[in-house]
Amino acid sequence: MNFLLEMTRRHDIELHLTRLADGVRGYSVPERTIVIDVDLSEERMNWTFCHELAHLLLKHGDAERPISAQDEKEAHELAQDLLLPPETFRADAHRFSLPELKTRYPQASWEVIARTRVRHRPAILTIFDNGRRTLRMAPPPVNCPARLHPLEKTVKQTLEAGETIAEVRSDAIHVEGVFVDEGHDIRRIILIAESEEL
Ligand SMILES: [Zn+2]
Repeated sequence: MNFLLEMTRRHDIELHLTRLADGVRGYSVPERTIVIDVDLSEERMNWTFCHELAHLLLKHGDAERPISAQDEKEAHELAQDLLLPPETFRADAHRFSLPELKTRYPQASWEVIARTRVRHRPAILTIFDNGRRTLRMAPPPVNCPARLHPLEKTVKQTLEAGETIAEVRSDAIHVEGVFVDEGHDIRRIILIAESEEL
């Protein structure tokens, strides 16, 4: 069944798809209404829905207490778990490569899958959009050096040369990468590096 339809039924949510102002992807109205921009891609709609559902479930924001940065952080993590249920995703994160996870969880974007995977399976996640590094992070206690490891560079170059999936493994480090055409002229490279040394 369609992911959004299933979620609205399971959580008894009234969902409105409508055209929203530029920059507004969605919002929620307590107790059970979520409004989402109809022009979003399906993956973004799913993410926005889960983010807004997280705010509702966590009872964030009212007249006296507007939504805080900490609320956003909590909503972000719960949204990941609503989109990629830890009951299955935690084990799958250790078992499967990034492309295999994308096939199993088509409701989530590559980025959400990658971010959630490193939460469950600590590693360094790096994202490049049109050649510009837009993210490099690792959950503690993983060390996250600013510079790319030589094998991360190798995987990145392989993807820049036209491959859509690349992987390199040595005794010290394992690097996976994917090339994703995100649309809107955004060509994205996602790298995940795992190492005992890093
Ligand atoms: Zn929010």
